[in-house]
Amino acid sequence: MKFDRVVTVDWSGGNDRGATPKKDAIWAAIGSGGAAQDPVYLRNRQVAERWLIDTLTDLRDQGLRVLVTFDLCFAYPDGFATQLIGSEDTLALWDWFAARVEDAPDANNRFDLAAQINAQFLGTGPFWFNGLQRDIAGLPRKGNARKDHGLPEKRSADLAVAGSFSPWQLAGAGAVGGQVIMGLPTLSRLRHHFGADLCVWPFQPVDAQIVLAETYFSQLPDLIDASRDTIKDAAQVMLYARAFSALSPDKMAALMDIDATPEGWVLGAGRAEILRAALPPPSLRNDCFAMPQGVHWTPVDTALAHLRSHLGPVTQTQYLPIAQAANRILAADVQAARAHPPAPNSAVDGYGFAGPMPEGPQNLSLVAGRSAAGQPYSHPVPAGSAIRILTGANLPQGVDTVILQEDVQLAANNIRFNGPLKRGANARDAGEDMRKGDVILTLGRRITPADIGTMAAAGVGQVSVHKRLAVGILSTGDELRDPGTTADDGQIFDANRPMLCALVAGWGHAVVDLGRAPDNRAKLRNILDDAAKRCDVIISSGGASAGDEDHMSALLEGTGSFALWRIAMKPGRPLALGLWGDRPVIGLPGNPVAAMVCALVFARPALRQLAGGTWAQTEGYLLPAAFEKSKKAGRREYLRARVDDGKVHVFPSEGSGRVSGLSWATGLVELDDPAQKVSPGDLVRFIPFGNYAL
Ligand code: AMP
Ligand code: MG
Repeated sequence: MKFDRVVTVDWSGGNDRGATPKKDAIWAAIGSGGAAQDPVYLRNRQVAERWLIDTLTDLRDQGLRVLVTFDLCFAYPDGFATQLIGSEDTLALWDWFAARVEDAPDANNRFDLAAQINAQFLGTGPFWFNGLQRDIAGLPRKGNARKDHGLPEKRSADLAVAGSFSPWQLAGAGAVGGQVIMGLPTLSRLRHHFGADLCVWPFQPVDAQIVLAETYFSQLPDLIDASRDTIKDAAQVMLYARAFSALSPDKMAALMDIDATPEGWVLGAGRAEILRAALPPPSLRNDCFAMPQGVHWTPVDTALAHLRSHLGPVTQTQYLPIAQAANRILAADVQAARAHPPAPNSAVDGYGFAGPMPEGPQNLSLVAGRSAAGQPYSHPVPAGSAIRILTGANLPQGVDTVILQEDVQLAANNIRFNGPLKRGANARDAGEDMRKGDVILTLGRRITPADIGTMAAAGVGQVSVHKRLAVGILSTGDELRDPGTTADDGQIFDANRPMLCALVAGWGHAVVDLGRAPDNRAKLRNILDDAAKRCDVIISSGGASAGDEDHMSALLEGTGSFALWRIAMKPGRPLALGLWGDRPVIGLPGNPVAAMVCALVFARPALRQLAGGTWAQTEGYLLPAAFEKSKKAGRREYLRARVDDGKVHVFPSEGSGRVSGLSWATGLVELDDPAQKVSPGDLVRFIPFGNYAL
C-alpha cells in the first residue's frame, strides 16, 4: 500500500475570521518519505475545503497517490445511521449531513441540527451540549440529562485510543461532536468532486488515487513538544505527516488491514507503535555544539547544561518483548495492562474469613476445600466460617481477612485463635501495587532488571524502546600500536580504544570499533566518512587540540560545526565537538586518564541524550578525606580515589598519564570550582565508579 504523499488535516469546530493563526482553526501538512513541509494555516472550513480541492487536484494531476487523513470521526456509533436514514451506509450518511448542514464563517446550524436528530431517537439524546445562549428543545446542556436513546457512547475504534471523546458531545473542552457534524459535509463534497479518483477507507476498497482516512492526532502524545511549537495543532499535523509518510507499504497495509464495519476505524488505533517506529529520528543542528563566545574557560556545569539542552534522540525506535529489553531506553511511557495484584489475595499461609475479629478467643467452622494460588475457591464463604488459604491465593467471596496458620489451633472442622484482628489483616488489595492504566515507567528510562519484573507483573509483554545507539570508537596518533603486538621506540600501546569500547558497551550502547587513525588528514577523513555510515555517533581520542598534528580538530573545523570546548577542569584538555555529516563527533583528550574522566563526565550523559534517555545526573556521597590538598579557584578537579575504613584516599600522583591509577581507584573525588583547602577529616564528594554505571 504505497502512497507518494500524505496530507494530514487537523479539522476544527471553530471558524476563524481573522488573519492571525489561531490554535483552534484548521491546520494541514503534506508529508512524503518521512519529511513534512511547513504546516498550512487554513482559517476556516470554507478556506480549508478550497485548499483541499486545489491541493488534491494538483497532486492527482501529477499522477501521485495520496492518503488524506483527518482527525475527524468518519462515522457514528453502531445503530445511528440505520435509525436516522434507514441504512447502514456511512457514505450515504455523509450526504445526509451535506444536505442539511448550513455553514458560513459567521454562523452555522449545528446545535439546531443536533436537536432535530435527537428528535428522531427515543428518550433524550444522543447529542448534548448546547453552546448557545438560547435553549434548544431536545438538546440537553448536560450529558447526564440524556437517557434511553439506545446508542453506545463511543465506537469500538474510539475505545482503542486513550482519551478519545464521544461524538455525541458537541462542544466543551476537548469535545469533537461539533466538528464532526461540520466536517462530514466537506467529506461528502470531496467524494463527489473527485468521483472515481477518490475512495474512503475502510468503507470502500482502497484502489483510487486519493484515499481518505480517519485518524486521531493523539496517538503519539509524548512526541508533541508543546514548549517548542507554540501551536500544538500545527505540530501535530507535521508529526503525523512525517509518521504516515514514513511507513513502508507493508506497514501501511498492516495498519489498513481491519475488519470494516459501518463504524469505520481510526487509522493506527491500538497500533501507535507501528507509527512511532516509522518516524525517522530528528537530526542534530549544525550549531548544536556552539557555545556562547567570550567565555575563555567553560565551567563543567555550563558545558553539561549545553549538552543537555542541545542533544536529543537520534535513534529510531522498535518494539521488543520485555525479556529482550534490559538496558534499553524506553521510547514511550509504559502503562499497566492489568492491575497488580489482579485480585484481592492472601499475603500468608493461613485461614481466611470476614473481618474484623474482636478481642478474645474466637472459634470459626471451616468450610470444605481451600483457596490456593492459581486454584481459587469459587464459592462464597459464609459469615462465621473460615477457609484454608495459601499465599497468593485469591480471597474467595466473603473473605477479606487472613490469620497466619501459626496463630491458629486447628481442629478437624474448625479453627480457634485469639482476637483482635483488623479487617484486611494479611490480605492484599486488588491494584494496591499498580492499577490498570497507571503509568508505571516513563519515557527515557533505561530498563533495569527490576523494571522487567514490574512490567511482567503488570501484564506488559512488549515495550517500545530506542534502537541501540551505535557508538564508533576511534583512536588517533602515529605513535599507537595495538595491544598484544610489539612496539618500537617512540611507540605506545593504544590504551584508550579498548578502554572506551568496554565503557560504552557497559552503558548499553552498540560499540563499533573504528580502529586507529594515523596522523594523516586524508586517511582520517576516509575513516570518518566510513564511520558516519555505520555509527550514530563517533567518539575519538587524541588529536583534539589545536596543534600541528591535531587533525580531528582541523577536519571538524572544515564542516562549519566545530567547537573546541576549553573546559575548566582537571584532568582534561579541550573537548573537540562537531558533526561529520549529521553524526556527532566527540573528541576526547588523548591522555588515558583525561580520556576516561572526560568520557565519564561528558560522553556518558551526551550518549544517553542521543540514545533517547533522560539526563544522566551523577550522584556522589560526602565522606571524610584521608588526604590533604589545596586547589586553585576556577576549575573543577577530579581525583582518582578509593574508600578505605570509611575515608577517602587519593592516588599519590595526579599525573594524567598514570593510567594504572584508574585501576587502583574505585571512584573519583570531585572538588568544586572555587579554591579549596582539603584537610584530613574534611568532607569531600566521592563518586563511586558504579554511579557512572561502570
Ligand atoms: P594528543 O591529544 O593526541 O596530543 O595525545 C596526548 C597524549 O595522549 C600523548 O602522550 C599521546 O601519546 C597519548 N595518547 C593519545 N592517544 C592514546 C591512546 N589511544 N592510548 C594511549 N595513549 C594515547
Ligand atoms: Mg596525537
